[in-house]
Amino acid sequence: MDAELLIVGAGPAGTATASFLAALAPALAARTLVVDQDEFPRDKVCAGAIGQRAEARLAAIGVAPEVPGVPVRALAVRAGGRELRVREDAVIGRVVRRCDFDTALLEAARARGVAVRTGVRVTGLRRRPGSIEVATSAGALSARVVVGADGVGSAVRRALGLPKGRFRAQAVEVDTPDDGSLAPDELRFDLSDRRIAGYAWDFPTLVAGRRMIGRGLYRLGREAAGGVGAAAGGDGSWPDLAALLRERLQALGVATGGLAVRRFAERGLCPSEPCARPGVLLVGEAAGIDPVLGEGIAQAVLYGEVAARYLAPRILGGDTDFADWPAALARTRLGLDLRVRARALGVVYGVRTRPFVERWLTRSHALARAGARYFAGRPVPRTWLARAVLDAGAAALLR
Ligand SMILES: Cc1cc2nc3c(=O)[nH]c(=O)nc-3n(C[C@H](O)[C@H](O)[C@H](O)COP(=O)(O)OP(=O)(O)OC[C@H]3O[C@@H](n4cnc5c(N)ncnc54)[C@H](O)[C@@H]3O)c2cc1C
Repeated sequence: MDAELLIVGAGPAGTATASFLAALAPALAARTLVVDQDEFPRDKVCAGAIGQRAEARLAAIGVAPEVPGVPVRALAVRAGGRELRVREDAVIGRVVRRCDFDTALLEAARARGVAVRTGVRVTGLRRRPGSIEVATSAGALSARVVVGADGVGSAVRRALGLPKGRFRAQAVEVDTPDDGSLAPDELRFDLSDRRIAGYAWDFPTLVAGRRMIGRGLYRLGREAAGGVGAAAGGDGSWPDLAALLRERLQALGVATGGLAVRRFAERGLCPSEPCARPGVLLVGEAAGIDPVLGEGIAQAVLYGEVAARYLAPRILGGDTDFADWPAALARTRLGLDLRVRARALGVVYGVRTRPFVERWLTRSHALARAGARYFAGRPVPRTWLARAVLDAGAAALLR
C-alpha cells in the first residue's frame, strides 16, 4: 500500500483536508499522500477573493499562509442603475494570487508530515478488496481511502461514474490597470447585465506586487440556468462570455487591446447528486461549491475541515464505506450554506424574481452588512437579519 489516504489534487480542498487531518490525527499524516498533476508553484484561474471565515479556521490549526494579498473591508453591489456599498471597520477577507496561496497551503501540509508528489496525473481508479488502485501518469498507486480534491474537471469524479453536475458554470477574467475606479479594499459585484444568469466582478488584486483590478464574468451553464428557470441568455441567445467581458470593459472605459482573457469552468454543489462511493469521497469543487457566485476558495478550505473530521475516526476505525458522506456534509454549517445557496439560485437568477433580488440587494444595507460579516465569519446581529427581511418586503412592493 502506497498510502492509507491518497488525496488527489493539491488545491485548497486537498491541502486543507491533509492539514486538518494532520491536526486531528497526527499519526495519519505520515500515512497520507497528496498528488497533483501540476508542479508547484502553479497558477489557477481565479479572482482570489477569500473570506476571513476560512482563514480563521486555518489559523485555528496553525496554518497562516503568509502571502501577498489585498485586504478587503468593503462590498459593493450594482444592479438596475443603483449601487449599494458597505464598509466594515475590520478586514473581512483578502484577495490573493492563487499561485502563492495554494503553494503556501501545500507547504503547510508538507510541514505536518504529509507526503506530496507533484507532476502526477490521476487517470483512473479501480476498487480492489480492501484498497483502491489509482492509475496515474507515474504508474499505479494503491491506498485504503481516496479523496478526490481535483477540482472542476475531477478525474476521480469521472472514474466513479458520477454525473458532471447540474450546476456547472463558466467564468472569464482579466487583470486590468488600476484606474482608481474601485476603492482599494472593495469587492464589487455587478448584476446589471440580465443577458447572463450570473454577474460581473471587479476585485482589487496584486500582480507581481503591482496594484491592478481583476475583472470578470460568472455565468451559469445552459443546463443549470435552464434547470432553475434562470435568465439563460435572457432573450434566449447565448453570447460568448469573453465577448461580453470585453463589451463591459469598453463600457467602463478600460482599454481591451492586449488583455489576456482567462476562462475556466466552475461546478456548484447540487445537493441531490452523489459525491461518494465506498472508499472514495469528493471534496471542494470536485464535489461542488457555491453555485450562485462561484465562490469556492473558502468552501474548499471548509470542505477540508469537514472531511477531516469525518474521515479521521472512520479511517482509524476501518469503516470506509462513506455512504453517509453527503448526509454528514449536509449536517455541517458548510453543507447548510451550500444547500441554501443551491435553493437561492432560482430566485437570484430567475427571470421573474431577479428584478426583486436586484432591488433588495441594492437597497438593503442590513443585508449587505450581514453578507460582509458572514464572509468574514463574524457573528451577524439578529436585528440586521430582521431588518433585511423587512427590506425584502419593501423591495417586493417596489416596482
Ligand atoms: C475565473 C474564476 C474566478 C474565481 N474567483 C473566485 C474568487 O474570487 N473567490 C473564490 O472563493 N472562488 C473563486 N473561484 C472558484 C475557485 O477558484 C475554486 O472553487 C477553488 O479553486 C476550488 O478549490 P479546489 O481545491 O476544490 O480545486 P482546485 O483549486 O481547482 O484544485 C484542484 C487541483 O487538482 C489538480 N488536479 C486536477 N486534475 C487532476 C488529476 N487528474 N490528477 C492530479 N491532480 C489533478 C489540479 O492541478 C489542482 O491543483 C473562481 C473560479 C474561476 C474559474
